[in-house]
Amino acid sequence: MPEIIIESFTLDHTKVQAPYVRLIDTESGEHGDIISNYDVRLCQPNQEEIPTGAMHTLEHLLALYLRPRVPGYIDCSPFGCRTGFHLLCWKEHDPQDIAVALKESLQEIVKTTWEQVPGTKEKECGNYRDHSLFGAQEWAKKILEKGISYDPYERKTV
Ligand SMILES: [Zn+2]
Repeated sequence: MPEIIIESFTLDHTKVQAPYVRLIDTESGEHGDIISNYDVRLCQPNQEEIPTGAMHTLEHLLALYLRPRVPGYIDCSPFGCRTGFHLLCWKEHDPQDIAVALKESLQEIVKTTWEQVPGTKEKECGNYRDHSLFGAQEWAKKILEKGISYDPYERKTV
């Protein structure tokens, strides 16, 4: 079997300065369509991690708020390490534009009421008991205070 190199695992997680947005890679299809994959890092690797309830509610709310702000949005899913999300979208975008879209989404999250969180019923979610809007909002405030950088190594915040 050929050696498989997964870009995300070649990143030196001790060198980055979260919160940041980073383009991981792009993939092109046989018709020339491009899909891009971003590292949306919300907290510092190996120093902090977002609890599952808060992460889960952030996931539902990013689906609501990030989607209309990122042209060609496909999906935004949590990392298993709970320090951030993968954002997938059609075409390649400037990480600075993604950082601005994330900032605006977090500002919306801070103002959101429980009734506005999508997909929180048993019928709509795989673990509807494990949500924390309080936690999502506390983390959103913390991330906004630190500022979102469009460079993973140097603080260039939007
Ligand atoms: Zn869910």
